[in-house]
Amino acid sequence: MYIGCHLSYSKGYSAMGRQALEIGANTFAFFTRNPRGGSAKKIDNEDVKNLLDMMTENNFGKLVVHAPYTTNLCSDNPETRDFGKRIMSDDLDRMEAIPGNYYNFHPGCHMKQGSEKGIELISSQLNSILSPEQSTIVLLETMAGKGTEIGRNFSEIHAIIDRTECSDKLGVCLDTCHIWDGGYDIVNHFDSVLEDFDRTIGLDRLKAIHLNDSLNPCGSHKDRHAKIGQGHIGTDALINVINHPALKNLPIILETPNDMAGYAQEIKILRENYKE
Ligand code: FE
Ligand code: FE
Ligand code: ZN
Repeated sequence: MYIGCHLSYSKGYSAMGRQALEIGANTFAFFTRNPRGGSAKKIDNEDVKNLLDMMTENNFGKLVVHAPYTTNLCSDNPETRDFGKRIMSDDLDRMEAIPGNYYNFHPGCHMKQGSEKGIELISSQLNSILSPEQSTIVLLETMAGKGTEIGRNFSEIHAIIDRTECSDKLGVCLDTCHIWDGGYDIVNHFDSVLEDFDRTIGLDRLKAIHLNDSLNPCGSHKDRHAKIGQGHIGTDALINVINHPALKNLPIILETPNDMAGYAQEIKILRENYKE
C-alpha cells in the first residue's frame, strides 16, 4: 500500500523523502510554492537525485503534487484565469525534474457564470496547459460542491475530460471527504459509488485517493476535513475504501488536520488494517 500525507517543500526534495520515511510513508504530497502562488524555489538537481534514489530504494509509489489553492481556471476574471494557467504550466515544467508523477488541482469555481461555462473555461485552459510531451499526469480532484465549485459530481469531471484535447494526460483524484460532502454515500454504498464512477468517468482514470474523514454529514457540501475516525465517515468505511480491489496500489494521501506524529499514527493504523 502506498500511503503518505502533505509534507513541507521548504527544506527541499530529499528532506521530504526523509520525513516520509520517518513517519512510515511511501508516497507524499506537497505544494510547489506557497498557497498564494508566489514564486517557486529553484530546483537543486543534486537534491532531486537524492530523493529519486531514496524513492527507488524504498519502493515509493507515485507522488501526488498539489497545485496552489489560488488557481482558478474558470474564474470570471481573465487575469485570475491567466494566473492559474501560468502557475500550472510552470509547475508542470518543473515537475519534469521528477518525471512520471501526478499533479492534482481543484477544477475551479465558476463564480456564478454557471457550471456549463465553468467546464468550458477549464477545458480550454487545459488545452493550452497540457502538452503531448509531458510525463506528468494531471489529476482533477472531485470536489464537495461548496459555493460554485466545479467537479461537484462525476459527470462534471467527465465533461471536463471529454472536452480536453490532451485527455490522455488527465486522471482523477478521489477525495473521500469531498465526495461524501458532495452526496455520495461511501459509508453504506461504496460499491455503487464506484460503479457510478466507472460508468460516468471510467475507473481507468482513477489515479489517486485523498483519504479524509468529514466533519459534516453526507450531502452537506461543506468541505471540512476531519481526522480518520473523528468524522461522519468513520474508520470502518475508510478502511473499506483502502481495501477495495478497484483502488489497490493507488497512492493514498492523508489531508487530515494532524501534526507529523498524528500522521504517523494514522498511517500505522491504516497499514495494520490493510489486507495484502
Ligand atoms: Fe485538494
Ligand atoms: Fe483533497
Ligand atoms: Zn477538502
